[in-house]
Amino acid sequence: MSKHPVVIVGTGLAGFQAASALRDEGYAGRIVLIGDEVHLPYHRPPLSKGYLLDGVDEARLRMRPETFYADKQIHLLGGRRAVAIDRANRRLRLDDGAVLDYAHLVLAVGASNRRLTVPGSTLGNVLSLRTLGDAHAIRERLRDVRRLVVIGAGFIGLEIAAAALKSKVEVTVIDVADRPMARAVSPATSAVFALEHSRNGVRFMFNAQVQQIAGEQDRATGVDLADGTHVAGDLIVVGIGVQPNIELAMTADLAVRNGIVVDCFMRTADPHISAIGDCAAHPNSFAQDQEVRLESVQNATDQARCVAAGIVGRAIPYRTVPWFWSDQGGLKLQIAGLIHGYDQTVVRNDPQGIGCTVFCFRQGRLVGVETVNQPANHMAARRVMASVLAGGQGITPQQAADSQFDLREAAAPVHPA
Ligand code: FAD
Ligand code: NAP
Repeated sequence: MSKHPVVIVGTGLAGFQAASALRDEGYAGRIVLIGDEVHLPYHRPPLSKGYLLDGVDEARLRMRPETFYADKQIHLLGGRRAVAIDRANRRLRLDDGAVLDYAHLVLAVGASNRRLTVPGSTLGNVLSLRTLGDAHAIRERLRDVRRLVVIGAGFIGLEIAAAALKSKVEVTVIDVADRPMARAVSPATSAVFALEHSRNGVRFMFNAQVQQIAGEQDRATGVDLADGTHVAGDLIVVGIGVQPNIELAMTADLAVRNGIVVDCFMRTADPHISAIGDCAAHPNSFAQDQEVRLESVQNATDQARCVAAGIVGRAIPYRTVPWFWSDQGGLKLQIAGLIHGYDQTVVRNDPQGIGCTVFCFRQGRLVGVETVNQPANHMAARRVMASVLAGGQGITPQQAADSQFDLREAAAPVHPA
């Protein structure tokens, strides 16, 4: 075993899980986990949900208590930024000038929020959400806000909108697309969410181009759209997607496209450097091995396990059913598979409620299943997708359309990879 440690950059979910999985795999060498955030590693999903309403005790957001790191001998360096990689000597330089040797380097550097660049975007009450600090700032403002304008009808925007409605705030959501979550879900699922959020009081403005944030002195007073509409607001939250953090990889001349390019073992072209989680552009079996970058808890967790197995010499390719969820008020969205490039959908509505299951097919082959408030169907869909991954057909559009056809019966039990 090398006398140098495995060094992991990024204390988000992927970095934390990589360190933890290395110990689970029996790795006995040194592990250094470095992150530029000052908090102990914490979960982001509650930040756009319960945390905005009731605060959730910050200790409960932590992935593990402080003692975990000492017990597992994971050397955690918080509040430190990695700034350059010297591949020839296998060294990493930090922002305070420290230099660390590594046996293997894992880049789990995540993604950063895309910034709005129109005039007024830097006014004091224009916020965005990625970190615990961001969530704290939004929660504090929501206490005395009357009108919230959310720019971006993606996951973040809609989760924040749903949370804000519960605090009796007037909410307008603006998006360039013509429907909510246009990039992530089918039109049928978008329609369910548009209807339910509208019923609850969200005002949507689609196909809308933000021209500037209007303001007085250093405070935003609303949003001006390209068609001349002014949308008044005393808090503006921007949720227009993310971009992968690729700068560190670029210091080492590693390939970057829409993320740090890795193979199916999450390794870059340098066998001593891997990348995982939101920052990693990987060949995905669900996208016919096309290079994709996924932004989800499942992806960060499973890629971390994959890289840890590789480091201890048990390399197995990353082949897992992707899945996602989003909680928006009374709606729970769950997605199994990847709906990229689908050309046919079959919708099964719940006759008793607002729930539905949307089956997405590409050339007759099941590629993804979206469910709204139907968790049993989601779990069954994950098992069906696992059989698709193993080479099976899954189910046909005809079966999906047949209300007598029981998805759960079609689902083979999942054997853990
Ligand atoms: P990150 O969480 O971005 O962590 C990367 C870390 O690396 C960050 O702390 C960053 O500051 C640090 N870093 C970057 N560069 C450096 C450097 N050079 N030196 C040191 N440190 C560095 N997914 C779901 O599936 N379901 C959900 O409901 C859900 N809700 C979400 C809600 C919110 C508010 C957010 C922001 C995300 C949510 N996600 C959800 C997405 C999910 O949280 C991410 O996919 C996941 O956190 C990715 O983990 P990561 O470790 O790859 O990246
Ligand atoms: P997102 O889901 O990509 O949605 C951003 C939306 O904003 C898209 O519809 C985008 O349209 C739109 N947009 C882009 N530029 C715009 C502009 N100038 N004006 C108005 N709308 C604009 O990203 P997000 O909601 O910001 O989420 C950020 C990150 O958090 C992602 O990694 C996401 O996965 C994660 N997250 C996940 C969950 C979950 O899974 N439940 C919850 C919260 C957050 P285009 O697509 O046309 O660009």
